[in-house]
Amino acid sequence: MKKTLVFKVNSENPEAKIIREAAGIIRNGGLVAFPTETVYGLGADALNAKAVLALFKAKRRPPDNPPIVHIGKFEDVYKLAMDVPAKAEILMKTFWPGPLTLVFKRSNIVPDVTVACLDTIAVRMPKHNVALALIRESGCPIAAPSANLAGKPSPTTTEHVLEDLDGRIDAILDAGPTRIGVESTVLDVTVDPPQILRPGGSPREALEAVLGKVELHPIVVAEKRLPVEKARSPGMKHRHYAPKAKLVVVEGELPAIVQKVMQLVNNYKKQEMKVGVLATNETVSFYKADVVKSLGGRNHLDVVAKNLFGLLREFDAEGVDVIIAEGVPTEGLGLAVMNRLRKASGYRIVKASL
Ligand code: AMP
Ligand code: MG
Repeated sequence: MKKTLVFKVNSENPEAKIIREAAGIIRNGGLVAFPTETVYGLGADALNAKAVLALFKAKRRPPDNPPIVHIGKFEDVYKLAMDVPAKAEILMKTFWPGPLTLVFKRSNIVPDVTVACLDTIAVRMPKHNVALALIRESGCPIAAPSANLAGKPSPTTTEHVLEDLDGRIDAILDAGPTRIGVESTVLDVTVDPPQILRPGGSPREALEAVLGKVELHPIVVAEKRLPVEKARSPGMKHRHYAPKAKLVVVEGELPAIVQKVMQLVNNYKKQEMKVGVLATNETVSFYKADVVKSLGGRNHLDVVAKNLFGLLREFDAEGVDVIIAEGVPTEGLGLAVMNRLRKASGYRIVKASL
């Protein structure tokens, strides 16, 4: 076990001395967790195969699921990608830095391990001064999956990172909670129209406003486990975001959801289970379960997204046996929230109607 150093750092104006120290660790092949605007990432030099292998090991991540490569300068995309289509350049100008990851044909400077032997690479420029300072000071692109153990909810605070990775990584840059709270949107621009492989911080509606048509990969909106063809987004096939407790998602019109959640609470109570409900501000007062928490207002899906992963971890800390979660509308950031909830539930979805 190693000692994980925690560096407090100013979120807006990161201290140069701290960034230099963290960048030194990255350049020496070490692992540094850092904040982005989405979730905390676990960074390694993307061009150092040994460092990336250590990254997979620390996270216990399956080797067939490549991380996103983070860059600090636009030019770097032309080094990592073989081909940058015109549509991608429009997206980069509009959305970078920001929560949009683009999948390109890869160049041959990238080690196989960084892209899990695929012929494509996922790249983004994060919108966070600490992340940008670290990447620029390191002088290399940084491979950074979310800084959690594989399968767990993604970390939105330093405490979440430490829960999973204390003693397994070299350092953390702590700049407080992340702003968006769900991961970036992954968009494949090797196909036309471009296709969303993972919904996230850049809503489909915003991409379509710039690009015209954008497709959704069927798995993004799946309500059951679908077979995944190899070589598209490998992360799709792994269990993800899951709390220890069993999770059930209830979907439908709001009055029907409330009625169904109440019924499920009673059923699980009869089985002597400790029951949690993941509600919203509009409904939170209706439920009598062991632990009831609210994601936020149903008209503020950005707040719901920001709270999601932290609340899933809180239910685990309370030791509930089952979490019953209300579904939210799939517009804007709601699509990312529902994709995470459905995956976290292992597709235990209950359709409610009156
Ligand atoms: P994470 O780094 O944990 O946020 O996850 C990165 C996501 O990007 C996973 O869902 C990966 O499967 C996906 N990804 C990474 N590289 C590629 C790629 N070359 N093609 C498609 N998806 C990718
Ligand atoms: Mg992840």
